[in-house]
Amino acid sequence: MTAHHPAAAMALLPNHHPSDALLVAYGAGSLGEGLSLAVAVHLAHCPDCRATLAEVEALGGALLEDLPPAPLESLSLAATLDRLDREEAPANPCKALRLKPLWSKPKAASAPQPATGLPRPLRAYVPSLDSLSWQRLAPGVRRVELLPRTASGGAAQLLRIAPGTALPHHGHGGLELTVVLSGHFADELGRYGPGDLAEVDGDTNHQPIADSHRDCICLIATEAPLRFTGLMGRLMQPFIGL
Ligand SMILES: [Zn+2]
Repeated sequence: MTAHHPAAAMALLPNHHPSDALLVAYGAGSLGEGLSLAVAVHLAHCPDCRATLAEVEALGGALLEDLPPAPLESLSLAATLDRLDREEAPANPCKALRLKPLWSKPKAASAPQPATGLPRPLRAYVPSLDSLSWQRLAPGVRRVELLPRTASGGAAQLLRIAPGTALPHHGHGGLELTVVLSGHFADELGRYGPGDLAEVDGDTNHQPIADSHRDCICLIATEAPLRFTGLMGRLMQPFIGL
């Protein structure tokens, strides 16, 4: 099975996956752009979750087909148009950037890590990791902002953490998704390598540590501000912007 993967790095499939609830929310398009991007990057690495998502979507389609015909005549044309307007309104510009097609292309599935070294969904945001200008946050921690914080609290960034460096211990005001692009990190919940997705909610405090011999580069997406619990973390918070 691993022989089909073109790059040795891809021979290892992810061990940490999004919850079913998160996959369903992704499939339904109800995640913000940053969270969607994190899930899409994991999907680029993970045939299992692509299969699960396909099942979820097939089930959703079947449920729609089984619904009795909608009594359209009971709705006024104005109300229907109004609803369509609202559904297509750019109230959430993230929707326009939905990443759904990116994993479903067979090419993406069979070659998720091309010459750029980046999974396909990320290439819309950064051309390559080498071309980025990393901003120093703290000793051993550098950052590139991918999506600035939105009014609803969503944000996404890349972090580059030097081996042995620990991030400040922190809790979360909402959901935080971390996908590893290279290297490894560990926290109270497990150890994460390339393609692994860590899903942490508002009830969890953790302290990730880059624990391999190379930099750990990961994508971190949040939907609400982090709550730092230590002095160092509180000092860093304005700079991290999470
Ligand atoms: Zn998975």
